[in-house]
Amino acid sequence: MTIQQQIIALREELQEHNHKYYVLDTPSISDFEFDQKLKHLQSLEQAHPEYDDPNSPTHRVGGTVTKNFETVVHNHRMYSLDNSYSKEDLNDWETRIKKMVDGAVSYTCELKYDGASMSLTYENGELLRAVTRGDGFQGDDVTTNVKTIKSVPLKLKGDYPVRFDIRGEIVLPWDGFNKMNEEREALGLELYRNPRNTASGSLKLQDSAEVAKRPLDCLLYNITGTNLGIQTQIESLEKAREWGFKVPVESTVCHSIDEVLEFVNHWDTARHELPYETDGVVVKVNSLRQQEELGYTAKAPRWAMAYKFKAEQVSTRLREITYQVGRTGAITPVANLEPVELAGTTVKRASLHNADQIAKLDIREGDEVFVEKGGEIIPKIIAVDLAKRPQDSSPTVYISQCPECETALVRKEGEAQHYCPNEEGCPTQIIGRIQHFISRKAMDIEGLGGETVALLVQSGLIYNYADLYTLTVGDVLPLERMAQKSAENLVNGVQASVQIPFERVLFGLGIRYVGETVAKKLAKHYKNVDSIIAASVEELVTVDEIGIKIAESVVAFFAKAENREILERLKLYGVQLEISADKLANQTDTLAGKTFVVSGVFEMPRNELKKLIEDNGGKVGSSISSKTAFLVAGDKMGPSKLAKAEKLGVKIISEQDFVQMLDNDVE
Ligand code: AMP
Ligand code: ZN
Repeated sequence: MTIQQQIIALREELQEHNHKYYVLDTPSISDFEFDQKLKHLQSLEQAHPEYDDPNSPTHRVGGTVTKNFETVVHNHRMYSLDNSYSKEDLNDWETRIKKMVDGAVSYTCELKYDGASMSLTYENGELLRAVTRGDGFQGDDVTTNVKTIKSVPLKLKGDYPVRFDIRGEIVLPWDGFNKMNEEREALGLELYRNPRNTASGSLKLQDSAEVAKRPLDCLLYNITGTNLGIQTQIESLEKAREWGFKVPVESTVCHSIDEVLEFVNHWDTARHELPYETDGVVVKVNSLRQQEELGYTAKAPRWAMAYKFKAEQVSTRLREITYQVGRTGAITPVANLEPVELAGTTVKRASLHNADQIAKLDIREGDEVFVEKGGEIIPKIIAVDLAKRPQDSSPTVYISQCPECETALVRKEGEAQHYCPNEEGCPTQIIGRIQHFISRKAMDIEGLGGETVALLVQSGLIYNYADLYTLTVGDVLPLERMAQKSAENLVNGVQASVQIPFERVLFGLGIRYVGETVAKKLAKHYKNVDSIIAASVEELVTVDEIGIKIAESVVAFFAKAENREILERLKLYGVQLEISADKLANQTDTLAGKTFVVSGVFEMPRNELKKLIEDNGGKVGSSISSKTAFLVAGDKMGPSKLAKAEKLGVKIISEQDFVQMLDNDVE
């Protein structure tokens, strides 16, 4: 055997042992033997660097230091999941699904692992990249760190596809977590709070050798890609297992919601025996074809539903109610609690939502309250222990003045929230608006963070986001902890943001109720800010998904002279206030006012078809109704949909018909 052959053989052997040990949990050699072989491989590789391979088992020990993790756009967006808490929720979900797909529906039930989500990309059977979920669209490239996790295969086995992404969860099993904490305790260091945060924190360590020391595990649950030749979710789990991934065996196919509930009930208690933390069950439509038909909402797949295990509850004393002011002036009451352990974290604060909520539960300072932690990070108070209420307690009187600027608060008819109306003078609002403007989903200004914004405002350098564009290096240098380099980065970051597309600028303006999706709709419909400014409430509500509340808020925003002045300045500085020309080029109104339902298999990817409909002014409906103008029928479309379309007199067209429809009008 040549040296190269020896190296390759050793790598394969070690890879196999690794799989047996970390994935299957059935080692066939001793740790000592394994280490010997690894050392042997290491010395061969050191002597022959020409045969190096980034996916050699020797690279699992880490040693690479990453200063800044690179941001990477996901090949496929990483969605969140909708939550359900009861049988009714699941039944409702099933009803919605059955309206949208043909034929029987079966489900896979998997446990919901509580860790850090991760997307792994494999090409030709080798791990190419590992990216954190981030905001779902883009995340951080943490490949070097993930490579140190022994249950992540660096090379695959069997008949894997040439290229695909696989999603999973990086978890820290209880054993390892407790051991890490024992060490910290011995060293007199603060203990880690819970496995999930420790797992996600580990992925961002700069020194991968440190990550290698942490007993992390990677559990996989979803394959994405094209032409994978897989028909069902359960099959994809089996396939992933064959290719060498660690896919927990606690998954099953259910044929009804009742069966799903049996699974949930079983694992609600049985999960405490599992080596890692779980917080629910994820129910997924088993057929991938049906999954594709169901598609996604803005946030989550329609074909999946998380069922949350009932949250743990504790009781503790409410010390004080304080009030926070948001960027739109909204006041949020906060409960400051006697610290208490809850589901692995120390809870000190809970949200009280609004004045009504406090009144409804009659929450008072000094009360003993029950706190629950659901899926959200901030726990909530669900009830007061009246038996323990102090004698001298008196009802909570909600504040009437802004805690930041002392302006009298207002509350609009029918709204739950109190607001500080002092938009121009309330420091928290001024800072909050600019912080929103520079945030990742809006202008994403590099080199400028929330704290610096606060400093800039406090030192009188800026009052609104248009002022950002006038900042010079000389202006910001005198700020606390500001060096030449960071001052330059800040100014360059601001200047670079003039490239950010119009819809994100619109979102960044911070108009109340105008979130990301609404901003996109408005940008697409009106094409530029001047048309939006010119639009009346009546006109705005005719735009798809724009309701009266949003329309009024938009009009009120642009009615203010200050805001229009700021916009004029943004325009001057070159900020994008209209849709870019190439986006416009692909958009027409050909299909305006028409709703399409798309069903079956097509030549062009289904998403492209839907995009074409939307780009040309049409609407994509999810189920056939009397409002549907056309059913675009592909191959393998279910017979019940066809029948329904015929019954309702919906026009049925083919993919070719559709394409022609577009072409005709364009000419
Ligand atoms: P949430 O963050 O609460 O919206 O829940 C969605 C997250 O659940 C996903 O991003 C995954 O990270 C995680 N998750 C855990 N286990 C699973 C599973 N078996 N299937 C899908 N997602 C899962
Ligand atoms: Zn105020």
